[in-house]
Amino acid sequence: MILLDGKSLSKKIKLELSNEVKKITSSSTRKPHLAAILVGENPASQTYVNAKEKACTQVGFDSTIIKYDKNISQEDLIDKILQINLDSNIDGLIVQLPLPHHIDEYLVVNSISAEKDVDGFHPINLGKMILGVDCFLPATPFGILTLIEEYGIDTIGKNCLVIGRSNIVGRPISILMSRNVKFANATVTLAHSKTKNIEKLTMDADIIIVALGREKFLKANMVKDGVVVIDVGINRIKSKNSKTGWRLVGDVDFDSVKDKASFITPVPGGVGPMTIVSLLKNTFLSYKNKKTKT
Ligand code: NAP
Repeated sequence: MILLDGKSLSKKIKLELSNEVKKITSSSTRKPHLAAILVGENPASQTYVNAKEKACTQVGFDSTIIKYDKNISQEDLIDKILQINLDSNIDGLIVQLPLPHHIDEYLVVNSISAEKDVDGFHPINLGKMILGVDCFLPATPFGILTLIEEYGIDTIGKNCLVIGRSNIVGRPISILMSRNVKFANATVTLAHSKTKNIEKLTMDADIIIVALGREKFLKANMVKDGVVVIDVGINRIKSKNSKTGWRLVGDVDFDSVKDKASFITPVPGGVGPMTIVSLLKNTFLSYKNKKTKT
């Protein structure tokens, strides 16, 4: 079994990025700049936004976190986004999801300029992704593809099962894995909560990408020998052995599945760090796109 080590790969990519930033910026030019909007006090969202800010600092980007009370109106939030769209000093803008129920996430994401949508959630970027045109790929699927390529995993004609059909992970990665390109050229099945007899699909799969948010959902008796397993899930479970009283586990029962897998991502340290580094890559791309236009 080979561990798909997102932690060390993300470190390597961050080092490359920070070297590139040093090369193309000087004391007189501005650095790449990522802005993040955080609404409310969801602890997981706060953790994710802080991790993104920390990663920006590590590679020499500027970052700004804009925090709003959970009661902010949809109109005020969209006004702020429209302002940032016009700010030539900001290359990337993300709005941390989920948003409070009174705010329509689609309208909010749609109001971010597609040229600054480094999360890759805007309909223009998603449309381009489907067509195979250059665009900002959604960060988590982008991170998964980078891992697959780095480890040289053979996808050509393989049966790839994606479990979970969210717009940010499952659905886009199912589309990306079905392209006609070297490291994403599989026959893809997309499973969800209404899928019948999922064990039949998991047993038949050469590659399984699991993104449903149920701790230890995928067990050893559901997979065949040699399977490639990519675990996107992040679930907090109580733990007596950690200082915080909880720890993170994925959607895969890692301890048992690892013995049957040819490649497997750990949680934490697999897809999570690759998501953040992909966001940085998209922000840097946006920065370079702007430079070539001016
Ligand atoms: P989500 O919006 O929570 O949706 C979950 C998906 O799983 C839905 O499509 C649902 O089906 C499906 N599902 C639920 N129970 C199922 C079951 N028993 N069998 C088969 N499918 C089932 O998904 P998400 O936002 O993609 O998040 C999934 C997990 O990934 C979460 O743990 C999240 O924290 C994690 N995540 C991690 C990263 C990262 O960087 N590592 C990034 C994003 C998300 P229906 O559509 O039928 O409801």
